[in-house]
Amino acid sequence: MTGLDISLFLFLLVTFIYVFTFNVITTQHKVYLLFHFFMMFWPIGQVGVHITDNPNLQVVYINISFVCLSMLGSGWLLFTKFLVNAAYRPSRKFLISMISPSLLMSAFIVWNPAGLFMHAVNGGYTERIYGPIFWGLAALLVTYYGISVRMLLQTYLKRKAQQEDSVSIRNALIGIVILVSMALLDLFVNVVLDPWLPVIPGLTSLGIVMSNLYFVFALQKNRTLDLVKIAHQDVVNTLSVGIIVLDEHDHIIEKNRIISPYIRTYVGEKLNMQKLLAGYSQDAAGEEAFLHAYHHQPMSRIQTEIAIEHNRQGAKFFSLHVAPTIVSGRRIGKVITFQDITELRSLILKSEEHNSSLQERNRALIYMQDELFQANRKLEQMAITDSLTGCYNRRYLMQQLEHEVMTNMRYKIPYALILFDIDFFKQVNDTYGHVVGDEVIRRTAEAVRSSLRRTDILARYGGEEFTLYMPHTTKEQAEMLAQRVREVVENNHIPIGRGRPPISVTVSMGMIAVEEPFEQQYDDIKDYLKELFSKIDSALYRAKDDGRNRVVNL
Ligand code: GH3
Ligand code: MG
Ligand code: MG
Repeated sequence: MTGLDISLFLFLLVTFIYVFTFNVITTQHKVYLLFHFFMMFWPIGQVGVHITDNPNLQVVYINISFVCLSMLGSGWLLFTKFLVNAAYRPSRKFLISMISPSLLMSAFIVWNPAGLFMHAVNGGYTERIYGPIFWGLAALLVTYYGISVRMLLQTYLKRKAQQEDSVSIRNALIGIVILVSMALLDLFVNVVLDPWLPVIPGLTSLGIVMSNLYFVFALQKNRTLDLVKIAHQDVVNTLSVGIIVLDEHDHIIEKNRIISPYIRTYVGEKLNMQKLLAGYSQDAAGEEAFLHAYHHQPMSRIQTEIAIEHNRQGAKFFSLHVAPTIVSGRRIGKVITFQDITELRSLILKSEEHNSSLQERNRALIYMQDELFQANRKLEQMAITDSLTGCYNRRYLMQQLEHEVMTNMRYKIPYALILFDIDFFKQVNDTYGHVVGDEVIRRTAEAVRSSLRRTDILARYGGEEFTLYMPHTTKEQAEMLAQRVREVVENNHIPIGRGRPPISVTVSMGMIAVEEPFEQQYDDIKDYLKELFSKIDSALYRAKDDGRNRVVNL
């Protein structure tokens, strides 16, 4: 009878190795293997009791068997949870509350207070009488199995109704039913009917083995699911975006590794968004609005930004999105994503800084441009005007005349040209000095300018000589204007300071009035102007010769 238990143990060992070798190991498998491990020790204990006569050793073997049996209950329940939902992640609280009864029962079995678990018959434990703790264990196991069977049955019926794959659940269900049946049979035959019947060994062991076969089948059936899940987990873990998947009660079902260094959350626990944001949020008002939407608008997609101080590398910035997972119009959970936007942010900040410095430079450039423009205008003005009198200079006048005279010829526009020179100016210089001389020149130009029309051009021809160009002017008008200018100068009293009486000067004028300009055969307009000026010059000489302070018209 020990041979049976040993071979059962060997069989379990082989299936253990098989599961290990031929399955991609997932959490589901790990749970199963733990569970399987406990299963294997039942037959070992059973064998041990029979191979030794030492009652103390027998107690050890029996303890091994029953502690493992006790642990089987919670192991089975956990395995069922995984079988029903491959993505299941138990919370710590659940694990503790599930394992505690098994552990407590194991402790009582080992302790065996006052033989309340079992006591020896004939000084040995090959045959033994069980006490209330044994029955407590039986009740506990029945409870565990009851819960598991109920869960499996519900899932089985649900899957069947929805025409999903239910084979693995069915196998597991059959497995557990066999296990419980055999264990109950063992209990009934070898414990309840013990006084009347001989011991039939290995009943529970046989049940364990048979159910074990079904469990292995159940696992096999789940293999495709495992592959998808592993692949899925790999993909999720290699994403550069942090992901947390929540169920409808905000429990974390899944998360990937990316966020682990920044946010401490555990699969199975309830996610507290307020706690998560605490201290990370960028602005209080934004946080409040986000939390409000998070709690009160579960169907909407929301977004916020958080900053997490990370090591000494400074803050990391994340864009946090929350999107509901909706199936057939019903929200079944949420997906929270964390996108690292630290680099993006620093790029934006840099480009903003860059922008503002560019703007600053732009402003400086515009200012400089304005200054340059003003300086240029000044230069232009300087280039065409005479600094002492503010009149146009000779160069500008000649330039203008080239253009004007040609236009006048083409359109037969009458015009007049005057050259005038201050009389006896040398005497002014000699009597009052050059400073007064300059002032006389300036004041004279000013007086002349005030008596002109807007279109007339007054230019300093050189020294104390000036030229006056009068467009659209007939000979008669020109004579009148010339006389007016002459009189204005004559009547212009120039203060010379130092208590001296003001002085006045006169001008002599040579004038030419072109009443009907006709096209000349000059190749160069400059030659024509030269001739014109030499004529005016001689008129001016005549005016000087004739006694000065007069106008000579050619
Ligand atoms: P006239 O009536 O014949 O013209 O006698 P004038 O003394 O004016 O003789 P002229 O025109 O030949 O001499 C002009 C003098 O004006 C010569 C020069 O010393 C003086 N002069 C020329 N340009 C300036 C100037 O910018 N400032 C001063 N203070 N004197 C000047
Ligand atoms: Mg003169
Ligand atoms: Mg002169």
